[in-house]
Amino acid sequence: MAQPPRSRVTPPLPIAPLPMLKSLRFALTEKSGNIKTGPIPVSVSSRTTCPSTCPFLKGGGCYAAAGYYTRLHWDAVTRGDRGEPLAGFLARIRALPEGQLWRHNVSGDLVATGGRLSRRFLDALTKANQGRRGFTYTHHLPELGENARLLRRANRGGFRVNVSTESERAADAAIAQGLPAVMAVPSDETRTTWRTPEGNRVLVCPAQRSDTRQCADCALCHTRGRRVIIAFLAHGTGKTKANAVIAEALANG
Ligand code: SF4
Repeated sequence: MAQPPRSRVTPPLPIAPLPMLKSLRFALTEKSGNIKTGPIPVSVSSRTTCPSTCPFLKGGGCYAAAGYYTRLHWDAVTRGDRGEPLAGFLARIRALPEGQLWRHNVSGDLVATGGRLSRRFLDALTKANQGRRGFTYTHHLPELGENARLLRRANRGGFRVNVSTESERAADAAIAQGLPAVMAVPSDETRTTWRTPEGNRVLVCPAQRSDTRQCADCALCHTRGRRVIIAFLAHGTGKTKANAVIAEALANG
């Protein structure tokens, strides 16, 4: 068959077309030693993936930055001393066993420019995850640009991206947009389950309610009802700051 003139051939799109993507590093630990996740693969992305709008970045209380070893690892990945560029990272995800539960981003967030998610990044990660059970959380704002549409597409493709919120109002809004939501709640919250004003069910993370539960056997952050919000109690050394961030979010409605 005759080939079209060279000028009309569309070159294949590179996976990482944005200049900033080239500077990013990603690291996969194939068996986490974290007591909460259990022995599942977990990843880290360069610090620059975190959105400036994240309230825990602005107000303090970020768990990833508060944990000593987590922070050291994150810094090493960000400097480029550990981890690898995106293409190698995606190859590692594709090599995970069928059905493998794994958590993307113990530290870091999804790749974006100015808060707008990178379509090529998210599509490439969703594709690499096919057949596996990847899940993550994002503080990038769904209402910005085509973020909500891209997040829905990733979720439909089996890569579970939970929208991180700090209030029932925000969690209800995410669910109304067809997105799974999680919510940070004050450390002194004593309820284990309740309903939001929109009737969505809130369930406190089982690993925070029991010493014997882990992500490895829970998997609710990947698979649950559309209207179930996972709540995370503020905890750890950043607890006081996290409580203040949550209080401010609640005060702002
Ligand atoms: S709800 Fe389950 S999967 Fe999600 S963080 Fe808690 S233990 Fe892990």
